[in-house]
Amino acid sequence: MGKVLIIGAGGVGNVVVKKCAQNPDVFSDIMLASRTLEKCDKIKNDIKSMYNIDIKTAQVDADNVADLVKLMNSFKPELVINVALPYQDLTIMDACLEAGVNYLDTANYEPLDTAKFEYKWQWAYQDKFKNAGLFAVLGCGFDPGVTNVFSAYAQKHFYDEIHQIDILDCNAGNHGHPFATNFNPEINIREVTQVVRHWADGKWVETPPIIEEGSVHFSFNYPQIGPRESYLLYHEELESLAVNIKGVKKIRFWMTFSENYLTHLKVLRNVGMTRIDEVDYEGCKVVPMKFLKSLLPDPASLAANYTGLTNIGNIFDGIKDGKRVRKYIYNVCDHAACYREVQAQAISYTTGVPAMIGGMMIMKGIWTGKGVYNVEQLDPDPFMDALNKYGLPWVVEDFDGELPA
Ligand code: NDP
Repeated sequence: MGKVLIIGAGGVGNVVVKKCAQNPDVFSDIMLASRTLEKCDKIKNDIKSMYNIDIKTAQVDADNVADLVKLMNSFKPELVINVALPYQDLTIMDACLEAGVNYLDTANYEPLDTAKFEYKWQWAYQDKFKNAGLFAVLGCGFDPGVTNVFSAYAQKHFYDEIHQIDILDCNAGNHGHPFATNFNPEINIREVTQVVRHWADGKWVETPPIIEEGSVHFSFNYPQIGPRESYLLYHEELESLAVNIKGVKKIRFWMTFSENYLTHLKVLRNVGMTRIDEVDYEGCKVVPMKFLKSLLPDPASLAANYTGLTNIGNIFDGIKDGKRVRKYIYNVCDHAACYREVQAQAISYTTGVPAMIGGMMIMKGIWTGKGVYNVEQLDPDPFMDALNKYGLPWVVEDFDGELPA
């Protein structure tokens, strides 16, 4: 029984709040706060009609620490689940420290003016959280999040040493729009237009962005989906797994993209629409990426007509009792089933469910700690059980397929 404050009423926030409301024995008092109160109230009304539960809502500017502290001091939550944008991570962490509240998020901090995401800014809060006796869990969505839990689980149950991890993320769904992103367009496009990095033999190796000549890709046959072209991409969990999975030599992240998506992205980039600096337009200052975001479909709005499956999982290669072992752990999720349950598409669902489960682990005292943690540093077993129970069942099988060298 406890109070949770969820910040951010977008596609992911909608799922987190509804999944928390499905578990009133753990989340007995829920507040949803975001920049736009109407979006919070829409979710509140859904929850009242779906589960006959009253949640509280509030307007908050999560860039403003004083505003956040005031809200936390009046509601007094035990935990804040941050599903606003990566830009707000540090202000929300600062407010949690001031108000004495535990913290969980799904994406690492990113400065507004540089398309760069790294854990260094949040890892720098280690001593502050430790000294305050507070617990911060970073990156508890699907990837990062479940992919880190899969790694900890494989390490605990299947391996003496993991030498290689390949994370494969496939969205084989169809939303019917010529071009749309599955989570916040600004954050998504900043992520996929970056120079690609993967971890090999103790250092980062750079390859061209997915839309440039020389990008690395191959066709992988995804269970329940079939072959899809998968592109090497930098993703934030590589950074923490390289530190926390002892002895790992290589970690790569692959994501599927259609030719259509890549062509749109290439054109948008080439004409300057993905720029994140201000340009002068007839006397007005405009950030092209922000303007583009305002034109693209809201990711939450894709949910109603989305069909098809996602498959996200990890392939491990390593040693157990002196023998080579290869394992594949993955989840398959159905867009339409997510919509039927919580009016969301599968990308929001696969992010929001693990955020709720992470929150549940903290509220029940199953995951405890003082300081800042990535999820692979915590016990994977209760989380893996909860994935099966709360909507993201996983499969583990031996892997004998081919991966690029
Ligand atoms: P949305 O853009 O749909 O939602 C973001 C929400 O945050 C919106 O409601 C927005 O308000 C609110 N918000 C933004 N700025 C502020 C602010 N200053 N103060 C208060 N509220 C604010 O994004 P998604 O729901 O798609 O994504 C949410 C998070 O989940 C992102 O950080 C994303 O990176 C992460 N994510 C993680 C994944 C994982 O697997 N780990 C996968 C997918 C997403 P408004 O409605 O007014 O715009």
